[in-house]
Amino acid sequence: DPRISKISSAIRVIPNFPKPGIMFQDITTLLLDTKAFRDTIDLFVERYRGKDISVVAGIEARGFIFGPPIALAIGAKFVPMRKPNKLPGEVISEEYSLEYGTDKMEMHVGAVQAGERALIIDDLIATGGTLCAAIRLLERVGVQVVECACVIELPELKGRERLGDKPLFVLVSSD
Ligand code: 5GP
Repeated sequence: DPRISKISSAIRVIPNFPKPGIMFQDITTLLLDTKAFRDTIDLFVERYRGKDISVVAGIEARGFIFGPPIALAIGAKFVPMRKPNKLPGEVISEEYSLEYGTDKMEMHVGAVQAGERALIIDDLIATGGTLCAAIRLLERVGVQVVECACVIELPELKGRERLGDKPLFVLVSSD
């Protein structure tokens, strides 16, 4: 698709952020390019429209940028998957491991119902730990996770393998 290369070149790479040795993929420059941003949303909408998806689950923080326009376009609700102690209502939470230590992801109780079909959105998959936690959280309450979708994949980190047989759709691979 000719739109992909424009999306790829609109993403800025910042070396040594947030720490030395990391090449940070910065999607804020993609948001400044109105054509590339629209194309990004359109590519996801084209893939998921008509697939009977009732939930778009977006992962804090950049899943909150891409998730809502996709949800509106396909007629699904948007559910935020948040960092701990941010959601005001009753939550269920799922721990996951980071390079050093652990983190937690939370979702409001009652936001989704057993049997619903969900799409999980984030900006980027690295090791896959974040997406795995989101999958576990939704599956624990009986939701069917149809697919995970990201703008960017870092294939060297083999996050796709960590997802097992859960389908992953990405627009750009960065190596
Ligand atoms: P993982 O759990 O797959 O190792 O890490 C993915 C999470 O870290 C995502 O929520 C993503 O937003 C964030 N992340 C890690 N590296 C980068 C990066 O280079 N750029 C951006 N935009 N996010 C990153």
